[in-house]
Amino acid sequence: MRPITNHLPTAELQALDAAHHMHPFTTNDKLAKKGARIITQAKGVWLKDSEGEEIIDGMAGLWCVNIGYAREEIAEAAARQIRELPYYNTFFQTSHVPAIALAARIAELAPGDLNHVFFAGSGSEANDTNIRLARHYWTLKEQPQRQVIIARKNGYHGSTMGGASLGGMVSMHEQGMLPIPGIVHIDQPYWYLEGGEMTPEDFGLARARALEDKILEIGPEKVAAFIAEPIQGAGGVIVPPASYWPEIQRIVDKYGILLIADEVITGFGRTGNWFGSQTFGIRPHIMTIAKGLSSGYAPIGGSIVCDEVAATIASDEFNHGYTYSGHPVAAAIALENLRIMEEEGVVEHVRDVAHPYLAERWHALGDHPLVGETSLVGLMGSLALTPVKGERVRFASEAGTAGFITRERCFANNVIMRHVYDRMIIAPPLVITPAEIDILMDRATKALDEAYVQLK
Ligand code: PLP
Repeated sequence: MRPITNHLPTAELQALDAAHHMHPFTTNDKLAKKGARIITQAKGVWLKDSEGEEIIDGMAGLWCVNIGYAREEIAEAAARQIRELPYYNTFFQTSHVPAIALAARIAELAPGDLNHVFFAGSGSEANDTNIRLARHYWTLKEQPQRQVIIARKNGYHGSTMGGASLGGMVSMHEQGMLPIPGIVHIDQPYWYLEGGEMTPEDFGLARARALEDKILEIGPEKVAAFIAEPIQGAGGVIVPPASYWPEIQRIVDKYGILLIADEVITGFGRTGNWFGSQTFGIRPHIMTIAKGLSSGYAPIGGSIVCDEVAATIASDEFNHGYTYSGHPVAAAIALENLRIMEEEGVVEHVRDVAHPYLAERWHALGDHPLVGETSLVGLMGSLALTPVKGERVRFASEAGTAGFITRERCFANNVIMRHVYDRMIIAPPLVITPAEIDILMDRATKALDEAYVQLK
């Protein structure tokens, strides 16, 4: 077989892809007919494909490439670590410098007494860890009946059995007898489509109080934890009304249950603070991290755990861990990523370019005839496509058709935006400049114009 490289013609790469590569969250038969777009290179906020097209990445890969693509310092850090210690584990009373240094650095950055890190290879794995941590914690506290974890409909917490169970995606639950036992879901704080005649504030309170209702229905003595994303990402970048999180915090405090903030997307600068919990004033006991931790340059995730939970877990052997927990190369890459973020003031940059620069252009899309709502926190934005301007209603066509068509127009205009049903999303690399924001917005607007004509 001849070597498979970037130099092969696109059609040949697509044929090999279709023959051997099973894509995640994809109808592979459909993709095989169409052929995948083959990304060959990337730098900064730009991708290049096998046809030589230059595409602006409005999604930072999968919400992860916070410092932008192709940073030489990261390549150097990875090469240095591979030469020095490419692998060792952290089981059986051993440790290594990259894991130690990264855990210490994360503890410095994380708010409050979130001072302890259990490493995983991804966000999904970290959430599996969180299920084990929360349940084991309560057993050690001599309340072994506290096993139920409450999560939210349309939340996303990953794709492993545990992660997909915590998530509230019906389409995922339908495949594989999920959720696993002991995980229940409450309604989401999605005012735009579910708020009816209520004000956003009243609706936020009502949806937070659904947590209290659920705790009382189950019995407070049986509830281990509540898990949620500060902003639902994969659910459509759903920013809760301002009343939501303070009420959730009141309820978890009242019933003494653990609060797990899934910061896989919102962590590491996305919302204009190091963590989304800071943006919303939340005090979680455990945080899930991944993605921006390494800016996607290496697979790594983890759970940041508060002093009291960590001390309790420390009193017994925790029969849990992954071969790649704290992988030295991934840890060295993450450390270098955090160094760059700090030295270049990336979190401050997010605040500077998000408001008012991106915000003005993004919210101006609210005047577009196809747009019903815009929202933006830091560099995480979404807009709802609407069939009737001025009304918060769904399209009559199959959910997601309008979003799919708009996403296709984005693709055709060399801008990556994602669609979740009929919401369009941006989450560009955090280092995006104002000039690049202009290109992103010009292309997004053109895609919306074209989609509008197509949908009329
Ligand atoms: N949690 C959240 C909030 C996510 O958005 C994701 C992925 O998008 C995950 C968990 C799962 O992370 P991973 O895909 O690294 O397993």
